[in-house]
Amino acid sequence: MKNKLVIIGSGPAGLTASIYAARGNLNPLVIAGREAGGQLMLTTDVDDFPGFPEGIQGPDLMDKMRKQAERFGTRFVSEDVLSVDLKSKPFVIKTETSDLSADALILATGASAMWLGLESEKKLIGKGISSCAVCDGFFFKGKNIIVVGGGDTAMREAQYLSKLASKVTVVHRRDSLRAQPALVELVKSKPNVEFLFNTTIEEFLGQEKLIGVRLKNTQDESSSEMDIDGVFVAIGHIPNTKFLKGQIDLDEKGYLVVHDETKTSVPGVFSAGDVSDYHYRQAVTAAGAGCKASFDAEEYLENLQTKKVV
Ligand code: NAP
Repeated sequence: MKNKLVIIGSGPAGLTASIYAARGNLNPLVIAGREAGGQLMLTTDVDDFPGFPEGIQGPDLMDKMRKQAERFGTRFVSEDVLSVDLKSKPFVIKTETSDLSADALILATGASAMWLGLESEKKLIGKGISSCAVCDGFFFKGKNIIVVGGGDTAMREAQYLSKLASKVTVVHRRDSLRAQPALVELVKSKPNVEFLFNTTIEEFLGQEKLIGVRLKNTQDESSSEMDIDGVFVAIGHIPNTKFLKGQIDLDEKGYLVVHDETKTSVPGVFSAGDVSDYHYRQAVTAAGAGCKASFDAEEYLENLQTKKVV
């Protein structure tokens, strides 16, 4: 099926791009993915998205954005993209069930949570180890849990989990946190949250279910064991660009390389949101980037029609 504009990704970047593109008569198709909505689907209180003075729940915000996109005629496909061919014109996008074509493409696939990478972690993900407090916190009501990391995500997870767990220990590899001071203060004010600095997890313990961790003190190299019911890993994200390898320029961490805000190394392919932004990573900056990508795609398509594109 031939499309003027295909948008891959349905977080704030992809949906904002689709709202602008639909209003600009580009009849966009959004390939939303099996887990539509992106990271905000895993976020509770969003207090910093303008226009919601009382705050809004992440999934509610995404639902509103999607309805807004649908109102202007955006079409959606709830599948994952398997591969793309950016060398052909029009571009070809292979999903689980079909081959789609597009004159222009916006990549807004975001980034996913990172793991520590231990074998024992792999074995116990979903059996006591998680990367999403909102999704799995409920299972740890009244339990003793760890949050790993020292950034904003770790503080958010600790804050959320402090309302459910009996005790939360934040395990961080250094002696200072990189999270915003306001978030740190909020978490430190919780009576059931403790911080364990200069500490890493060396091993997750348990066979069928997590029962504890072996910790390492990074200063004196000593090891100790701690009984624990759950561990939430909150150490950052990795861009969702695997399906793009060899087709387009990626940096050493896999983020899309962009110039002039949204332009990638392939003319006609634009980027929006966390897939190329490892710095701001906010819903509002992703939404803003989606708007810019849509304008740039529109200009590209106009030039394509009048054969100005070389
Ligand atoms: P981040 O800022 O990159 O922090 C990752 C944390 O995990 C760091 O403290 C890092 O330690 C630690 N870490 C990384 N790899 C590790 C490993 N292998 N073992 C142990 N610890 C490891 O990531 P983030 O917290 O996900 O935040 C990403 C961006 O999203 C930031 O710009 C943040 O401001 C934003 N964000 C904002 C909010 C909000 O509420 N406004 C919420 C979530 C995220 P080091 O400090 O030693 O490097």
